[in-house]
Amino acid sequence: MSTAETTPKDFIRQAIEEDLASGRFDHVHTRFPPEPNGYLHIGHAKAISIDFGVAEEYGGLCNLRFDDTNPAKEEQQYVDQIIEDIRWLGYDWGDRLYYASDYFEQLYQWAEELIRKGKAYVCDLSPDEIRQYRGTLTEPGKDSPYRNRSVEENLDLFRRMRAGEFPDGARTLRAKIDMASPNMNLRDPVMYRILHREHQRTGNKWCIYPMYDYAHGQSDSIEGITHSLCSLEYEDHRPLYEWFLEALAIYAPRQIEFARLELNYTVLSKRRLLRLVNEGHVSGWDDPRMPTLAGLRRRGYTPEAIRDFCERVGVAKTNSIADIGLLEHCLRQDLNKRAPRRFGVLRPLKVVLLNYPEGLVEEMECINNPEDASAGTRLVPFSRELYIERDDYRQDPPRKWHRLAPGREVRLRYAYLITCVDAIYDENGQVVELHCTYDPATRGGDAPDGRKVKGTLHWVSAAHSVEAEVRLYDRLFAVPNPLDVAEGQDWIDNLNPNSLQVLMGCRLEPSLAAAPPGSIYQFERQGYFCVDSKDSSPARLVFNRAVSLRDTWAKIEQAQQQGEE
Ligand code: ATP
Ligand code: MG
Repeated sequence: MSTAETTPKDFIRQAIEEDLASGRFDHVHTRFPPEPNGYLHIGHAKAISIDFGVAEEYGGLCNLRFDDTNPAKEEQQYVDQIIEDIRWLGYDWGDRLYYASDYFEQLYQWAEELIRKGKAYVCDLSPDEIRQYRGTLTEPGKDSPYRNRSVEENLDLFRRMRAGEFPDGARTLRAKIDMASPNMNLRDPVMYRILHREHQRTGNKWCIYPMYDYAHGQSDSIEGITHSLCSLEYEDHRPLYEWFLEALAIYAPRQIEFARLELNYTVLSKRRLLRLVNEGHVSGWDDPRMPTLAGLRRRGYTPEAIRDFCERVGVAKTNSIADIGLLEHCLRQDLNKRAPRRFGVLRPLKVVLLNYPEGLVEEMECINNPEDASAGTRLVPFSRELYIERDDYRQDPPRKWHRLAPGREVRLRYAYLITCVDAIYDENGQVVELHCTYDPATRGGDAPDGRKVKGTLHWVSAAHSVEAEVRLYDRLFAVPNPLDVAEGQDWIDNLNPNSLQVLMGCRLEPSLAAAPPGSIYQFERQGYFCVDSKDSSPARLVFNRAVSLRDTWAKIEQAQQQGEE
């Protein structure tokens, strides 16, 4: 009994339904407001799934609006990437792509209006002095000596700020609210700063730029947003947004805050992700170990898996840390249904079938996906010389070993039963080749006499297989909470030194030679692998391991379901 109707609605949906019922709003219009100062990460995916998801559910609209108020940190390449990533997730903003910079003139006019109303003033304190005057959480701040300038002087100075008469940092425009407010955001916050910096959209038209807190609420207002959904840290900013909207007497949306997504074994903040990129700890924003959407996509994550994850994490009012194992579980669930099965030998060990005719090639019929009959079958060539996984052979097997060992018999999946008769070693004592015999009566993998063979191995035909590089990824950080460091220590030290292992000379079944970039397969018994979209080519195949097959979450879920029964 867990249908949609019986699941209680989260507090955002409850609030929206109240507003629709009470008539406060007669429709739903949300927005997703990224700052183009980095790539989107899995935390943004959560915000996106809420903003777009809620609008979709209530027959409303969701805008995409870039909060591009800080040209010092923002770039066009981030704008383009963000657009690509949201599309990839499967959301659509129609023709409603907006930029806060579209509203610069209107925001400026409103600032003059606030000056005329005596609610804003030009302040000559330096950024440091502003900080000192602001006070602390326990002490009230002090009024700026410039707080009581006349409207005329303020207007004159503000216009000259715009005209470019003053250098960066010389003056600011501040809201005149309350230097003793218990809410620090209300202690005469800065509305405009001087920044002689070219903007990626407005060029050199402006040398003063609005602060995020001054631009955000009014941008929502201009777009007629009904529900401005944002993360918890903006709760304390809400009174400021409301103050601006009220002072300007313009339309006000309802802001509702939700908990940010945190994920263990990773960091989710563009500032920190940028550091990983800049210091070369990863190969770029789209390194498959990064929690960015571009990185996850390159790794082999699907939009479906990410959306499923966001849904399962749900909407909460208090911060909590999600388990990266759940994200991996969502990917396995999705790929298990969809990914074609293939044979890939990551650490090859040669096998020669002594009694198999030289020159003979048989085509073995293999099932593409046991979860999906419509996926059909394929033919995989089989011959006298094969590769199997090095790990599938032990000279001295432990107890309960069902794989190959001297004298043992195993099944080669979809092919024959084989028995190991000899192993060849090199001068270092490393096994380099196995000699086996096959039982011609067991084609398909079953013995006519019904003898039991427990172990089943994957394999490829040596002559037919294609070579590939395979990149095995592990968690980016070695500890669940990378930011939890002692004083004087750096969270960078928590990086997992083994987060990437590159295997060269892997051997894959021949059908994978033509695998297009971005396509995803299950290598049987190994995991899910995605053709690298950057480095792979027909001449040099490169696969990324998206996730292994091992799944601890499946067990947790099973236990929960059993508990419910
Ligand atoms: P970061 O700290 O990673 O730089 P940000 O909040 O500065 O994130 P923005 O581009 O301003 O990044 O975020 C756009 C929207 O995404 C905001 O509404 C913000 O609330 C939301 N968001 C950002 N990070 C998360 C997260 N971890 N979980 C949920 N929502 C998030
Ligand atoms: Mg931000």
